[in-house]
Amino acid sequence: MNYEDYYTWQEDVPGFGKAAQEKLRQCTAMVSRVGGLGGPLALSLAAAGVGRIILAHGGELRPDDLNRQILMTHAGLGELRHVQAAETLRRFNSDLEIESVGENISEENVADLVGKADLVFSCAPLFEERLLMNREAMRQRKFFVDGAMCSMEGHVLAVRPGESTCLACLVKEPPAYWKRRFPVIGAVSAMVAQIAVLEGIKLVTNFAKPALDHLIHVDTVAMRLKKVKLLRDPDCPHCGDLVS
Ligand SMILES: [Zn+2]
Repeated sequence: MNYEDYYTWQEDVPGFGKAAQEKLRQCTAMVSRVGGLGGPLALSLAAAGVGRIILAHGGELRPDDLNRQILMTHAGLGELRHVQAAETLRRFNSDLEIESVGENISEENVADLVGKADLVFSCAPLFEERLLMNREAMRQRKFFVDGAMCSMEGHVLAVRPGESTCLACLVKEPPAYWKRRFPVIGAVSAMVAQIAVLEGIKLVTNFAKPALDHLIHVDTVAMRLKKVKLLRDPDCPHCGDLVS
């Protein structure tokens, strides 16, 4: 089978075609972490034919991860998460190039990991990691998509550096109220992941316009999706001095 044989159905989407598919094939996407949000997100990137994925996720699989971390299996309890995630993706798509890193994002690794990518997906539960990825993506002018959720709600923000509102325009410091442990049904984190994937595909291919300068908000109790208009902060510490 050739690469082209796998993607004919999505090439039929109006405006997509072979040109967009080739852009996905050439794209390197970084995803951190690959839990309830990043796992389904990475799987959809692999299905869409993104050529290369860099995964960053520290730690070993625990029983209470398995209501949402769908790249892992019950058989892998106690094993490294990033190794299992990479194996699942390789089994799914043998054309996919994967680099997996057994670390979460930190000041030490963020510049290097973002530097290898064209498109950065921030799927971390902690604001410290999300803001680090945002900072580096802005500095290195990489497309950036932040996904976040809590309980029955989620948010997605897509950013074209130097042109649109970034995460640090909205949040300057990790909020004191935020706790590492928060309620999750896996279907909600997976839903937020799919919206993030679509925004990332739009950023890379230009086949449709991403919702720049808007926060996409998903409420799965009311089953309502809305876009909240954002204003870019001209004094933003991450994107304020980027001239488009
Ligand atoms: Zn900003």
